[in-house]
Amino acid sequence: MTNLPELFGSLVYNQQVMSQTLSSSVYKALKHTMEDGTPLDLDSANQIAESMKKWAISKGATHYSHWFQPLTGITAEKHDSFLTPAPEGKIIMSFSGKELIKGEPDASSFPNGGKRSTFEARGYTVWDPTSYPFIKDHTLCIPTAFCSYNGEALDKKTPLLRSMEALNTQSLRILKLFGNEAKHVTTTMGPEQEYFLVDEKLYNKRKDLKMCGRTLFGAKPVKGQEMDDQYFAAIKPRVIEYMEDLNTELWKLGIYCKTEHNEAAPAQHEMAPIFTTSNLAADQNQLTMEIMKKVARRHGLICLLHEKPFEGVNGSGKHNNWSIATNNGENLFAPGKTPRDNAQFLLFLTAVIKAVDDNQDLLRYSVASAGNDHRLGANEAPPAIISIYVGDELQAILEAIKEGKAYDGKDGAKLNIGADVLPSIPKDSTDRNRTSPFAFTGNRFEFRAVGSALSISGPNTILNAILADSLRKFADELEKSQNFQSDLEQLIKREITEHWRILFNGNGYGQEWIEEAERRGLKNYRTTPKAIEHYLDQKNIDLFGKLGIYTEEEMHSHSVIKLEKYCQVLNIEVGTMLEMVNKDIIPSAFKYMNLLADTEFKMQRVFDLCDAGLNTMKKLNNLINDLSVNAEKLSALHETTKATEDLMQRAHSYAKQILPQMSVVREIADQIEPLLGEDFKPFPSYEDLLFSVQ
Ligand code: ADP
Ligand code: MG
Repeated sequence: MTNLPELFGSLVYNQQVMSQTLSSSVYKALKHTMEDGTPLDLDSANQIAESMKKWAISKGATHYSHWFQPLTGITAEKHDSFLTPAPEGKIIMSFSGKELIKGEPDASSFPNGGKRSTFEARGYTVWDPTSYPFIKDHTLCIPTAFCSYNGEALDKKTPLLRSMEALNTQSLRILKLFGNEAKHVTTTMGPEQEYFLVDEKLYNKRKDLKMCGRTLFGAKPVKGQEMDDQYFAAIKPRVIEYMEDLNTELWKLGIYCKTEHNEAAPAQHEMAPIFTTSNLAADQNQLTMEIMKKVARRHGLICLLHEKPFEGVNGSGKHNNWSIATNNGENLFAPGKTPRDNAQFLLFLTAVIKAVDDNQDLLRYSVASAGNDHRLGANEAPPAIISIYVGDELQAILEAIKEGKAYDGKDGAKLNIGADVLPSIPKDSTDRNRTSPFAFTGNRFEFRAVGSALSISGPNTILNAILADSLRKFADELEKSQNFQSDLEQLIKREITEHWRILFNGNGYGQEWIEEAERRGLKNYRTTPKAIEHYLDQKNIDLFGKLGIYTEEEMHSHSVIKLEKYCQVLNIEVGTMLEMVNKDIIPSAFKYMNLLADTEFKMQRVFDLCDAGLNTMKKLNNLINDLSVNAEKLSALHETTKATEDLMQRAHSYAKQILPQMSVVREIADQIEPLLGEDFKPFPSYEDLLFSVQ
């Protein structure tokens, strides 16, 4: 066993390395920058760059790169070597403060939603000193934000940082009203990452997995997940080796991966890190996804991060554990011990309830993608309807406030916010309902609708923004108050009553909830284009504008990118599906029919007839005809869809016309697959894929 404390963070230029390698004045300057954003002077930046370079070279790095998260949702990097020519054909390894702080990759090929034309496509990457540089593939990676010439965000980090700042400002206003002396408030995040592992050799034989990351065909295996024997089951040796290797790689990068276990579906697993500041957590999650895939290859495995790689078994999500804390370490989503703390907690809780109810559309938008649409509402994941689960105890307290009664329903005096101590809330009781998309879990909220492949920056930007907006409205009102105590109580009561409909403790997977939610007037945007349609509503433009998180132009371009991506994904899926029908499925079926016909012919000469062969042939014949007719139909529909000029209309057409027709094609093909002999199957089956990694 390697020495874990030595290994942990060994590839990270963290505070420990900083304090050991920088002069005390430069270290102090850098800490100021990290803590309150004071700009770094060039002299300090030069010294930091020098120290960083020396450290990186001592760890075997030859290159450096500004590492950033463009709007594609994955990360990008452009490597430059430290190499600088020196006299006499020699080289020196150089890296300046300027190169550390600002980079200029050519931004013309990154999605920008029509914001810039190519000739002015210069973007800047700017170091985010609150996220540590690290070494990956002999390259010093410097986490950066990516902006256009005019300072517009071209990435996912910039809005996230802005949202954290907005939430800090608004939270401090509220805390001040309670006499809380916190200086800074930050958001924390712990993403539980689900994934599938499949054998690389099998994967290579499936065009759909290679091109789309999910299976477009596959008859149900004899055994699925109905036995519930996978969840938390003993981990198979090959998977253990993978997890150990993965842990080592992530630990070196300073990522606190802690929990690992099998998930509900066969071949599905989860890794949960210990939570950290949101922007660092977002960087680390991007890195985690990349390393998960890379390490899998070393083990002859493929790590699938798609939200729904297999039909009929659970999909993968990324439970987004989210909280806010002060610089004194006080978790603002934790019920307190004193009446004052309780009142403060209840106000923050009320702000979350209001934020979620007022902005169901934004939350749904933040998790919208072609992949996640297959998962949300698929009876094993939260529906596309957003609601909050707070647990029975907390719900009873909120009800008491709403009704002006004692919380336990007994005849005691009514619950006095700010004067009464709240009854303690047992932690485990808050986590009983796993079907809620947004659950209070004792000292944090768990947003479960996030898809496994998504960047967590988007959903967290929205979470921070909508909470900041609620708090802003509360602060505007309470700062004017002459009688804080009673105005606070009134405000909480009023808001809880107004947003009561968003609280739901029942089964979020049931059909009854869909009907009930509709009665309550909750939004149910089933598809990505539906979710995007409302993004540019005036309410949202105002919200982001007031808080300085997105300009209207940024919102517009970001939503265009999302729509374009949705259409692109489906375009690739349709193409792959048609290829598999024509190149894999129909030829395999013909080969098998040929064998059957041959056998039939010979049989007839010996006996009279062979019914079994004939029947299979007839069945196959009908199915193949049906398949080719429907594949043709899909192809024709796709031509019309592709030619639809208006992007939103095109996306709707993919959702309403193309996806249902893809299901039809799949259903027929999935009936053909089990009829073919083992040697004639067109590609590895679900059984092969889901049960072969031992
Ligand atoms: P479960 O599977 O029961 O939801 P896990 O232990 O798998 O729980 O994951 C819980 C996640 O929540 C971890 O990533 C943990 O670090 C994170 N978490 C705990 N406290 C906080 C907090 N205050 N803020 C953000 N995340 C938190
Ligand atoms: Mg979990």
